[in-house]
Amino acid sequence: MDKLAQLVTRMTLEEKVGQMTQLSIDTLHVGEPLDIQLPPQIDEAKLDRIIREEMVGSILNVPSGYLPDRKEWIELIAKIQEKAKTTRLGIPVLYGIDAIHGVNYCRDATLFPQPIAMAASFNRSLTEQVASATAYECRAAHLPWNFSPALDVGRHPAWPRLWESFGEDVYVNGQMGQAMVKGYQGTQHPDPFKVAACLKHFVAYGQPLSGMDRSPAWVPERQLREYYLPAFQNAIDAGAMTIMVNSGEINGIPVHANRRLLTDILRDEMGFEGLLVTDWWDIVYLHQRHKVAPDLKTAVRLAIEAGVDMSMTPFDTEFKHLLVELVQEGSISETRIDASVARILNLKEKLGLFEQTFPPEEGYPDFGSQRFHKTSKKAAQESIVLLKNQQQLLPIPKDANILVCGPAANTMQALNGGWTADWQGESADTMLKDYANILQAVEGINEGTVHFHEGVSFEKELKVRDAIWKAQEVDYIILCLGEASYTEEEGNIQDLYIDEIQTNLALALAETGKPIILVLAEGRPRLISKFADRMNAIIGAFYPGPYGGVAIAEIIFGLQNPSGKLPFTYPRFPNALLNYDHKHTEDWILKKTGPAYNPQFEFGHGLSYSDFKYTKLSVSKTVFSSDEMIEIEVSLTNKGLLAGKETILLFISDVYASISPPVKRLRGFHKIELEPGEEKKHTFRIQPNALSFIDKNMDWGLEPGQFIVRIGDLHQAFEII
Ligand code: BGC
Repeated sequence: MDKLAQLVTRMTLEEKVGQMTQLSIDTLHVGEPLDIQLPPQIDEAKLDRIIREEMVGSILNVPSGYLPDRKEWIELIAKIQEKAKTTRLGIPVLYGIDAIHGVNYCRDATLFPQPIAMAASFNRSLTEQVASATAYECRAAHLPWNFSPALDVGRHPAWPRLWESFGEDVYVNGQMGQAMVKGYQGTQHPDPFKVAACLKHFVAYGQPLSGMDRSPAWVPERQLREYYLPAFQNAIDAGAMTIMVNSGEINGIPVHANRRLLTDILRDEMGFEGLLVTDWWDIVYLHQRHKVAPDLKTAVRLAIEAGVDMSMTPFDTEFKHLLVELVQEGSISETRIDASVARILNLKEKLGLFEQTFPPEEGYPDFGSQRFHKTSKKAAQESIVLLKNQQQLLPIPKDANILVCGPAANTMQALNGGWTADWQGESADTMLKDYANILQAVEGINEGTVHFHEGVSFEKELKVRDAIWKAQEVDYIILCLGEASYTEEEGNIQDLYIDEIQTNLALALAETGKPIILVLAEGRPRLISKFADRMNAIIGAFYPGPYGGVAIAEIIFGLQNPSGKLPFTYPRFPNALLNYDHKHTEDWILKKTGPAYNPQFEFGHGLSYSDFKYTKLSVSKTVFSSDEMIEIEVSLTNKGLLAGKETILLFISDVYASISPPVKRLRGFHKIELEPGEEKKHTFRIQPNALSFIDKNMDWGLEPGQFIVRIGDLHQAFEII
């Protein structure tokens, strides 16, 4: 019997169930949870009760209303671990944090673009570098467990957490998820510069029917398997150590109570052996919100039976007491508890928590370093998407006279989103005051005159007239619209159109006849069809992080060549929220309405100042057997005058299939850089299996027949027999 298994045999039932309990840090502070005394101070009596008496195994979160620096984190965690050492078995505590774009809950840590922006970069290695730097800085603050990446597959454009995902495509989510897991975890354990990743939120959180957070989703089995499980499978195969459960319900069953999903599928089919943690308060919600459990005790039983290992309770230990009762009554077996405890201890060991031999504060010289900041800036630059550039309006000369306006122009909130210094990202402007917002970045580069009139705020009209009046005098208008920061239910919206106040400002400015560069700084595609045609250039910035302002301004003035591409479909109308991998019947053009699939901008769309031309698309053979590698080669030439980066997107269409095939699916991508005049070849290697789909028997199946490869404006057919 190994050391950990032996440890489990020595534990009392209370000690075991304590390990399965996770509390918020607020429960250890002086004051009430969510209303602690500031600056936060550990309440020694609470610490003693929670760690020694209740034997709680895990703590999470940042003190509410406070942003600790690295030193404070180290001291806080040391205090908790010192107390844990004095318990009967001295089992260390596992601290979990949301560090979703850098260590956003540690003052002075390096922040990076949000996941949707990383997806827009279509750059796997940059994404891995971002995750690796985040892991380093987490550990530098002695935080070993990160609740990231979110592999939710954001397929509903109104969903307020779309930007926390890697967008709507299955393949992109899988690739970026894998890159994040590699960057966070590395390969050897324990590693003092790596953390445990937590894939979330298992599963199908990204398509609630109403678009509202944590509202019911209806996901047919075929969709579940083909669209939502694969990204998790990729990340599990990459070694992801932990997973968090989706707070919502699917087909009427809250996921926290769904044994089929959490055990039969996740463990037995997908082979996940790590720790499964609930989301915030979710066992309580089985009773209070979902109404599938008449009392909390039933809720606890349902969740444990479903397969949960650890409950984010997060403010009390009722879960623990009820679970002890359930075991004592014989409703839950102690063997079941032992299985969860073994997983928790195993994780603690892998993270090196038993030895606690981490480098001290000075062992992390790269914390907040130039190197990490350069990575953040590069990621921001690669994430910006040039959506429209009528008559090559952009880039504009540096000595132009400019009016900057709109509510997104002078706030870091619209560049960073939620989980920035605080949950809703509301203190971004204070915390990131040393970085340039869009206005400041434009002022920093422009050598002419920059006027600023906000015109409207996110809430109300300000002095629109002043903006219009000033617009008459300038050469260009940079109109910054979009959204401030939000996440979860606080980001719910009733209407996907960008609000009326901003729309009216855009329309009024358009009347001036001056060229308008619209910058959309937002976390999801707010509809702009009421005025998009009247904008001369459009730039999409989807929470590119602290260097977003600079990245946008550099693109506007031509100091950078844009290379981002849309990781989601940008809809035109609120009744046509289809994803790119829609069905052929959704392309039918009805005379009166136009097709159902008629987006403002397509998934994968993104312009460059270079002029890229695809040629010589070839498939290695015309007929393949089902186990032969398909090699697809294409050449790309930069016909422009500027060096630039381009992501080659490989789409494949299954021409006929027993389940009506989508118009196309992304099956590969590759980003390359080309000097002016340069031509490069790239070869994609695709296993025919990658072209399978969930067939009539609900199994992955590859059907012989014709397929069409599509890259840029080229296409080529091949057959699988
Ligand atoms: C969110 C999770 C997050 C957790 C812990 C929840 O409200 O849904 O994504 O990891 O809080 O902060």
